[in-house]
Amino acid sequence: AKQTGRNKVCLYNHLLHQETQRKNLLEQDIHQALSLNQFVVHYQPQICTQTQKVKGVEALVRWQHPTEGLLKPYSFLELAEELNLIGNIGQWVLHTASHQLKHWQRQYHLNDDELTMSVNLSTFQLQDINLLNLVSDVLTSCDLSPSCLELEITESSIIHSPENIVGRLIELTQKGIKLSLDDFGTGYSSIKHLHLFPINSLKVDKSFIAAYEQKRSQDKVLEAMIKFAKYLGLSVIAEGVETAEQLAFCQAQGCDLIQGYFYSKPISAHDFESQYLVK
Ligand code: C2E
Ligand code: CA
Ligand code: CA
Ligand code: CA
Repeated sequence: AKQTGRNKVCLYNHLLHQETQRKNLLEQDIHQALSLNQFVVHYQPQICTQTQKVKGVEALVRWQHPTEGLLKPYSFLELAEELNLIGNIGQWVLHTASHQLKHWQRQYHLNDDELTMSVNLSTFQLQDINLLNLVSDVLTSCDLSPSCLELEITESSIIHSPENIVGRLIELTQKGIKLSLDDFGTGYSSIKHLHLFPINSLKVDKSFIAAYEQKRSQDKVLEAMIKFAKYLGLSVIAEGVETAEQLAFCQAQGCDLIQGYFYSKPISAHDFESQYLVK
């Protein structure tokens, strides 16, 4: 037993060492990733429950690493944050996604209200006093109407924020940009403060959708959250919808948009175009 214990410790140390090595490797590489053009944006459709058509699209960043392959955000965003690169990456994603939408609008003769681009904002970006200017610059350089852009913010990044963040959010909405509250229902409960934030929509966190099974008590929570959002006059996006049952439930509860693997995983711009825009 002692021997297995020791082996386990060895294995653990070995894995820890590998993990540290991998982190060091990523740390060296991430500094150049932007200039080497290694980040890519993938797009996941948001489907309207009324029309079954694509109404929005969320931009999700990936890192095409030369040896590690296509990396998901969880494996590098924290590191990017530690190294103070998150602002630059965020600005790059915002520009790339906006530019992409403008291209699609031109190519497929889309009106401003036909397709909305959703982009995630990090806490760092929200705290930047230059946020409004940075966003405005992107819109101007892409010649994109503010109403086509939706910024996704998380509860945790605004709930403990000083009032000036609320002021900054109001400035964005006064410009015509939409805001949505991501991961709703997780972590901090901001129900008390929700009316303070100038948001257009709520994204019900995927953990609630995943927990959904007919006639379980969890569903009551999901049901109440959707009712609550509707009561506040917000549009509701259900995220992480994977099955026909989950879809039927969200539809019956009055969710406006559905995002999840049931329809599509996040895909490349090229695939999004051929699957959702080419007539
Ligand atoms: P998020 O904003 O909550 O984005 C939704 C995540 O759920 C995405 O993971 C998406 O691929 C995944 N997802 C969508 N539908 C389903 C489904 O049906 N089932 C399951 N199991 N998952 C689904 P992804 O792309 O790995 O992104 C993870 C997180 O990384 C995002 O969570 C967001 O917080 C962050 N992130 C991604 N791109 C950016 C970015 O450009 N800037 C910032 N600040 N954060 C980003
Ligand atoms: Ca999001
Ligand atoms: Ca989310
Ligand atoms: Ca999340």
